[in-house]
Amino acid sequence: MPERAGELRAAIDAVRAACRVCRAVQERIGGDTLEKRDKSPVTVADFASQAIVCRSLALAFPADPIVAEETSEELRREGHAKLRDAVVEHVRAEIGTPASAELVLGWIDRGGADAKDGRYWTLDPIDGTKGFLRREQYAVALGLIEDGEVVLGVLGCPNLPNAGGSRGALFAALRAGPARSLPLWDARDAAGATVAVDGVRSAAQARLCESVESEHSNQTESARIASLLGIASEPLRIDSQCKYAAVARNDASIYLRLPTRADYREKIWDHAAGKLLVESAGGRVTDIDGRPLDFGRGGTLAGNRGILATSGRIHDEVLGAIRRVREG
Ligand code: AMP
Ligand code: MG
Repeated sequence: MPERAGELRAAIDAVRAACRVCRAVQERIGGDTLEKRDKSPVTVADFASQAIVCRSLALAFPADPIVAEETSEELRREGHAKLRDAVVEHVRAEIGTPASAELVLGWIDRGGADAKDGRYWTLDPIDGTKGFLRREQYAVALGLIEDGEVVLGVLGCPNLPNAGGSRGALFAALRAGPARSLPLWDARDAAGATVAVDGVRSAAQARLCESVESEHSNQTESARIASLLGIASEPLRIDSQCKYAAVARNDASIYLRLPTRADYREKIWDHAAGKLLVESAGGRVTDIDGRPLDFGRGGTLAGNRGILATSGRIHDEVLGAIRRVREG
């Protein structure tokens, strides 16, 4: 049996369940509510997704700490009973048992570990909240970190289009193994298909992807870098770690994330699963200065600035262009 096969199976099951809950929340709410920018559906899905994943991990690996984005603090406040009830209802529907509200809140709070040594999980229950609101791309992202290294990553992408026209894909990666794509909504195909990055040798042939949100990545600067590299195609703008999936499965060759503020530190749950996916698919991931991402510093990538993920061969060429543009 391959190393961490049990962890991988548990992570895949947990992410699939969380994606079903996110989809259920999105389906239950009329387009109108989302368009009005009512944040409550996002919140319901965020909390329910985190409760589902943390419950699964608690059952399978009760000793493992989890560093996740949400806490139950807001749900425990008076006046938030409706939100709390909705979260509990969605969690119960998915797990098929009438768990108490206290139990559900306790699962969410299992994600509050402050770990940075040894082995721990990191979870973004909904990465790309703004994409979720627009009914575009978002991801449930789960990574396992051991001694500062990501060793397992699972990414559920409920709205990602597939070649056949369907939507939803799951990606799984182990440090030692190939990256795989599996059906998200159907657990019967346990093997899935291997995914691999492209082999472009010159950045001019590359397609670049970046955030939809200009506050999350400097799009003016990325346009200058693309121009310097001779990239003529328009950037592929998608929310969440679906950008890592795009590079891993060869929809794009570059994922560039350029700081918009000098003091912003990337969160580990925004990158752990995606980074391993791209590396396992044969690509390279560093920060924009070419440094390896350091996951051993707690909840943030405190030793890094921005992100560059590529299909590999063009990585140094892109780093050179970033340096030239940023140094003016
Ligand atoms: P994306 O969908 O790639 O734009 O990324 C969504 C993530 O951006 C969220 O999960 C946030 O953690 C993160 N984020 C929030 N503010 C910033 C910022 N100023 N710079 C970079 N990332 C941010
Ligand atoms: Mg996120």
